[in-house]
Amino acid sequence: MKYDLVQDNIKMLYLASPRGFCAGVSRAVSIVELAIERFGTPIFVRKEIVHNACVVRELTKRGVVFVNELDDIKKYNLDADIQPTVIFSAHGVSPEVFKVAEYMDLRIVDATCPLVERVHKRAKKYAEDGYNILLIGHKEHEEVQGTLGVINSACGKVQVIERIEDIRNLELANPCKWLSQTTISYSDTLEIVHALTQKFPFLDGSAGLDICYATTNRQKATYELVKTVGKNGVVLVVGSKNSSNTLRLVENAAHLGVNALRLEDADAIDSKLIKTLADAKNIGITSGASVPEHLVEEIVQKIVDKFPNVKAQTITTTVENTHFALPKSLQQ
Ligand code: SF4
Repeated sequence: MKYDLVQDNIKMLYLASPRGFCAGVSRAVSIVELAIERFGTPIFVRKEIVHNACVVRELTKRGVVFVNELDDIKKYNLDADIQPTVIFSAHGVSPEVFKVAEYMDLRIVDATCPLVERVHKRAKKYAEDGYNILLIGHKEHEEVQGTLGVINSACGKVQVIERIEDIRNLELANPCKWLSQTTISYSDTLEIVHALTQKFPFLDGSAGLDICYATTNRQKATYELVKTVGKNGVVLVVGSKNSSNTLRLVENAAHLGVNALRLEDADAIDSKLIKTLADAKNIGITSGASVPEHLVEEIVQKIVDKFPNVKAQTITTTVENTHFALPKSLQQ
């Protein structure tokens, strides 16, 4: 959907660009769709393929079964002559999970984002080279769990830093390297790294920032969006509550002083939100990297229906053209 600038004294609806699907999410969703065609259902996906409730719901309707752990596949009493297919999510898995899948004789299709794989490669090398490793990220996030698994499999020593307060009691010996989750806040991470290098001058502050292009671009776009919307406006961030990069967009926008609200989809627009939007001069909309564009379009449509005086304009900060190749097993 394209939105054109219309002038006049009216309520403005600004849309951040880039927003929504990144190359890693696009690839992961395509992998599941192609696997359905190639191997037929049931297709099992370990964890959510990407952190978006709508994507998971739509794929479930097409016969995909989401399981929390590989063991859950055993409950499905499949014919002995069927080799079940399991897809690993875009967030990546630890080598242990691969081993279990091989032991269970599952057909493995790996949808790990290549940018997460890149972190895994570095993590493995640092562990094998005997470095103490610091991993900046959210301990419970699947990506961090996968990276920790890679380090543990290589017998590495690792500590996770979630927030700047964790540095106070941190003890660290040289040699040390650091890594980060791909979907965390760019500005918070820079603050953490600055504090780390103050406390541990032997740490190289310039190496280890693994926040991906899509997270960075969406955070920059949200920054511009907030500036445009202004402090009396409202910024709606579309995305699921377990989507790390969506939550960071909400936090970043709120930090900049705007009323920032996360929205799952158009159904979340209730009378309370309508009142909030009615009171705002400007409305901004952005979405996390796992959000299908149709969810944004449906929200925009609902707002336009409620406020006929709304005019929309896209605020573009970067044009993205990143694409990742599909796994060989699914290429034509
Ligand atoms: S947010 Fe970044 S790391 Fe995550 S899937 Fe998208 S491109 Fe890959």
